[in-house]
Amino acid sequence: ATCDVDGEWTTGQLEPYGDLSLSPAAAVLNYGQGIFEGMKAYRTVDGAVAVFRPDQNAKRFAEGAGRMSMPPVPEDVFVDAVKKTISANRDFIPPEGKGSLYLRPLLIGTGPILGLGPAPSYDFLVYCSPVASYFKGGQLTPIDLVVEETYHRAAPGGTGSTKCVGNYSPVLKVQLKAKKEGFSDVIYLDAVNNKYIEEVSSCNFFAVKGKTIATPALGGSILPGITRKSVIELAKKKGYVVEERNVSVEEVLDADECFCTGTAVVVVPVGSVTHRGEKKVFKGGKVGEVGQSLYDELTGIQAGKLEAPEGWLVNVPEG
Ligand code: PMP
Repeated sequence: ATCDVDGEWTTGQLEPYGDLSLSPAAAVLNYGQGIFEGMKAYRTVDGAVAVFRPDQNAKRFAEGAGRMSMPPVPEDVFVDAVKKTISANRDFIPPEGKGSLYLRPLLIGTGPILGLGPAPSYDFLVYCSPVASYFKGGQLTPIDLVVEETYHRAAPGGTGSTKCVGNYSPVLKVQLKAKKEGFSDVIYLDAVNNKYIEEVSSCNFFAVKGKTIATPALGGSILPGITRKSVIELAKKKGYVVEERNVSVEEVLDADECFCTGTAVVVVPVGSVTHRGEKKVFKGGKVGEVGQSLYDELTGIQAGKLEAPEGWLVNVPEG
């Protein structure tokens, strides 16, 4: 779908996957007006197809658009496009338990502009791909993280709470370096104190101590993960105390167990955290019980095996 200067959206259509044609002066190429979403559709145990909490992605997308000086895509336009994309790609959705269909909605400033200013027009599109486990070794394989003290992912007042394209390019080199050193990914710290955990490149972070689960509060520099929000609800239902607040590196190193959450990673246990060359191993490098139980609960809901809270699992009918 396209949005013109008056903020009116056209009705979109399904097209075969292929290249886009862009003006060299497109605002997204020059001024970075671009945001995206990541969401998944699953085949459920009864063979139906469902998408997880699309209204939440629509809301985050609209907020991100506002922050990046772009017109928001209305929630109904967003959800409808996502459902149509899933329907058209039903045959590519792996069987239950074998993976999912990852969906990538994009909003980009496609209109040309030379002087600094917002694009005169925008394009909203959704593409997709079947996916399996995000990290090596399959889901629930503990990951090894390293605390990054030189580079930050986001700063207060910046764009950390949006999925804007520019947030991801500076982390690529940091992530690559960590991977070369044998780590799965990087933990970013807050840009003010260089002391409190923010998040990992593509997921949110949780630390467990006894019956308390602590996770960094959303202060504007962390992505408000939809899996994060969902897992917080599930953990509270299970009787854990969930605290959204500052979580220091020291607290993490003293935790019983840590895990990360995200659409791509689901709930992944943290096997170790390395800080200034010192490696702290959790649970002997095995899956912790809190992470395991939240993984079971979340994937059970997504597979239609466990009852889903209202609105979490949206059925996508055929055709
Ligand atoms: N943090 C960052 C930086 C991310 O890119 C993602 C993935 N969207 C997340 C956290 C997790 O968010 P969600 O649970 O909505 O996928």
